[in-house]
Amino acid sequence: MDKLYLSKSKYCRAVQCNKMLWMDKNKPECAEELDNESVFENGTKVGILAKELFGPHIDISYQEDLTKMLEETKKCLLSPPNVITEASFEFDGNFCSVDILRNFADGLEVYEVKSSTEVKDIYLEDISYQVYVLKSLGYNVKKACIVYLNNEYERHGDLELDKLFSIEDVTKIAFSKFEEVGKKIADTREYMKQTEEPTDDIGTKCFNPYQCAYWKYCTRNLPENNVFQIRGMKTNTKFNLYFNGLIDFKDLVNEDLNKKYIEQMEYELFDKEDTINKAHIKNFLNKLYYPLYFLDFETYQQAIPEYDGIRPYMQIPFQYSLHYVQNENGELLHKEFLANANEDPRRKLAERLVLDIPTDACVLAYNMKFEKGVIKNLAETYADLSEKLMQIHDNIQDLMEPFQDRDYYTKDMHGSYSIKYVLPALFPYDKELDYHALPVVHNGGEAMTVFASLGEKTKEEQERIRHGLLEYCKLDTLAMVKIWEKLKAVVR
Ligand code: SF4
Repeated sequence: MDKLYLSKSKYCRAVQCNKMLWMDKNKPECAEELDNESVFENGTKVGILAKELFGPHIDISYQEDLTKMLEETKKCLLSPPNVITEASFEFDGNFCSVDILRNFADGLEVYEVKSSTEVKDIYLEDISYQVYVLKSLGYNVKKACIVYLNNEYERHGDLELDKLFSIEDVTKIAFSKFEEVGKKIADTREYMKQTEEPTDDIGTKCFNPYQCAYWKYCTRNLPENNVFQIRGMKTNTKFNLYFNGLIDFKDLVNEDLNKKYIEQMEYELFDKEDTINKAHIKNFLNKLYYPLYFLDFETYQQAIPEYDGIRPYMQIPFQYSLHYVQNENGELLHKEFLANANEDPRRKLAERLVLDIPTDACVLAYNMKFEKGVIKNLAETYADLSEKLMQIHDNIQDLMEPFQDRDYYTKDMHGSYSIKYVLPALFPYDKELDYHALPVVHNGGEAMTVFASLGEKTKEEQERIRHGLLEYCKLDTLAMVKIWEKLKAVVR
């Protein structure tokens, strides 16, 4: 049997769950596709920029034949002081490329770059593995640090790398884990020798630090209605119940649990009739007035701020859709805004928004916290538009309210008040409201990803994507109109 070749990422996967690594090797086809593309994109950009942190550097470019990377590294190490990026090492089948290595005559400094804005426990495992490899090879490691993004840094003018990045010295921790890493590597190698599929149980590790792509596969034998489908319950609580054998809704429904969880289970188990609290829904509808505007924003994030006034991962609005009716029997009208690629979208969007929404209009959003947050940020950025923006902000009502309060609840909402569940529950066969039928963009995550890379596409491709974005956002506000109409209809 081939010797298992470990890398930083394989080691970290084994730290999360040995079975995950076993599945990667033996049954990768059982993995679900998870939406990690934009995270990866962000990671690459951050990595490239961080390499500039310590000035001129020699880059060991990736080669399929890893021995070439090892040889090149050895050569570079002969002429300290220098900075080497992707310096590569191997000890006894354990390979690693160090993101940034500072090479001094008396030893090495290891820097692991992350696109996150905090130091997570798994990063310590990652860097401890690298320190283990280097020390085992006999190098004197002087320092081990995590480089990550400072989300308080706001760009003004040229990027200031020393402010954009934070560096945390984790040398002590990495050194203290030396034995532990050696043992983990040995255990993992033993584990990976199994030819039969391992029978490891699921646990909180399936979601921590990352959601595992084999979750569906590993839970395929659980009853259809199981504890993991209870909406809003903490993961730890779910696993406590699971490990106590309380898995099926049939057993859980008799437990002393939060009323909302019991309600969800009862509706689904006993096929209960819809709840429609007419008096409360009427109270909600009475708060609304004309002209009535339905507003939805799309936002995206930049790990590396490209424009002035932006912080890493700040929500940047680039698009909105507005459906509106002027009076009780008024026609349904529509307006929209979609920014150009490769420019800061905020100013134009804010200017258009104050023109498109009258300050005396009632504005409906679904989960208004988000829309209010976006508008407040714009108001804080553009003092001249602030008053009008804050008037719009103050006029927002939340269409989610009747569903959050369960004044309108059906078993098909599965305990959720998110529009993703509410809409198909209220309009199960409505093709007009089917997000799957949309041409390019089907959810907010996709909208974010395609807009972020819009500028890199051909003109034709840009047209196609822009059309897709407009259709998607328009459907979001149309869905809100339909929900509002439904609420009116049920209280009639
Ligand atoms: S779903 Fe859980 S148990 Fe299965 S491989 Fe992933 S982390 Fe391991």
